[in-house]
Amino acid sequence: MSAEAGEGREAAGAHEAREKRIARLTRELIEVLGEDPEREGLVRTPERVARVWTDLTRGYRATVPEVVNGALFDAKGSEMVIVRDVEVMSLCEHHLLPWYGRAHVAYLPKKQIIGLSKIARLADLFAHRLQVQERFTTQLASAVDEVLDPWGVGVVVEARHMCMMMRGVEKAHSLTTTSSLIGKFSEDPRTRSEFLSLISNRMSA
Ligand SMILES: [Zn+2]
Repeated sequence: MSAEAGEGREAAGAHEAREKRIARLTRELIEVLGEDPEREGLVRTPERVARVWTDLTRGYRATVPEVVNGALFDAKGSEMVIVRDVEVMSLCEHHLLPWYGRAHVAYLPKKQIIGLSKIARLADLFAHRLQVQERFTTQLASAVDEVLDPWGVGVVVEARHMCMMMRGVEKAHSLTTTSSLIGKFSEDPRTRSEFLSLISNRMSA
């Protein structure tokens, strides 16, 4: 688990104080659930939980410019750029349980393109926060739009939500699909259908 850009700037004691507080709360949660926080298997759980939760929410301690970090290049043409199957792992803000899936991100360059790995890093930035899938999708599309000022952006996210699966609210394998379309992807049906047909062979796989 690597430290993301941004965490390095945090005041020296803040990181430690947060982990101590999460550990304290976790110990209390274990007790409330009817368990013995001192039994062998659980005695170090609060500290483990504190480290994991700090990492899984590192998106609160970084910004879009820090993630992009200048990895922009002059566009050679205006062909659609598509990044498929970006892994997304996040936590739902309603139940604090994981939701996970894939994002497909496309844009029509105007002046600049972005390093492909940065799209995945931007997805991580927003996924490592307490989220709903709809807002994640919109935030990712808006970030690409703001960073590149392209002719348009399209983002489709397919995900499964543990809070639904574990509670039997929906069939265990049902996918939730969300999309955010900006500029030409919203205005031009040909751009939109090109995008959707380019990702459709990958969807629901
Ligand atoms: Zn939920």
